[in-house]
Amino acid sequence: MKRIADKLHREGKRIALVPTMGYFHEGHLSLIRKARKVADAVIVSIFVNPTQFGPNEDFEHYPRDFERDRRLARELGTDYIFGPDVKEMYPAGYRTYVEVEELSKKLCGMSRRTHFRGVTTVVLKLFEITKADVAVFGWKDAQQFLIIRKMARDLNLGVKLIGVPTVRERDGLAMSSRNTYLSPEERCDAVAIRNSLRHAKAMIKKRIISAPKILAAMRKVIGAAKSARIDYVEIVDVDNLEPLQAVKKGKTLIAAAVFIGGTRLIDNIRV
Ligand code: AMP
Repeated sequence: MKRIADKLHREGKRIALVPTMGYFHEGHLSLIRKARKVADAVIVSIFVNPTQFGPNEDFEHYPRDFERDRRLARELGTDYIFGPDVKEMYPAGYRTYVEVEELSKKLCGMSRRTHFRGVTTVVLKLFEITKADVAVFGWKDAQQFLIIRKMARDLNLGVKLIGVPTVRERDGLAMSSRNTYLSPEERCDAVAIRNSLRHAKAMIKKRIISAPKILAAMRKVIGAAKSARIDYVEIVDVDNLEPLQAVKKGKTLIAAAVFIGGTRLIDNIRV
């Protein structure tokens, strides 16, 4: 991959990387389309990264379908798929990790203590291996995007980061590879996450900007779904993820993580 990337650069090509864990849905595909528009060569990485999963999480069961992913990526004009195996990325004796302090301990970092350290480590490795000029990420994982942006700035990486809006199912549920874990009843309940965010937006439109008031209303919407158990709902500053007492125009991230049965799903809006 490094040899190919060097050759692309020698030919004067601008390289875009789309890092993924595979099992593509429309969200992934919109990232690939975006990459195709902004670069000469598109590399899609497919790697279920063990270091971003906790010991009791779903690394083993995470859905995988390399052949289907390969076909879809190719149809959208992907030039290269980089699909290393775990031993190539983390050979025996691997000991180096990159961590963005503070940001990585908030929101999802509260219940997934080592998750973002795994994400930043693998993304930095992928940037190095693919020599990406541009990398495309989804706002669906807003905290991940903000943390990677911080890493890129702090470490002078020089890679340009592009965030793509969340792609949703018809009823509003954010697309996620983990949605495949849901039973039919859970699938119905899962839309409560999106509905709670919609409700927040409607309140803000009516000029109700008190964070405690909005959060209480959101908890009520989610609580009405039988299989839902809230991990967190928070209203935070989009730059530093610090909790806000009131919505700040153009600066606010409303984020939720909710267990639907045994499946933990996340969603967010920026307002
Ligand atoms: P994953 O395969 O879940 O690691 O996701 C790979 C990339 O796709 C990340 O940048 C995600 O933020 C992005 N992504 C996942 N779901 C969506 C979605 N529904 N809409 C837009 N981007 C998404």
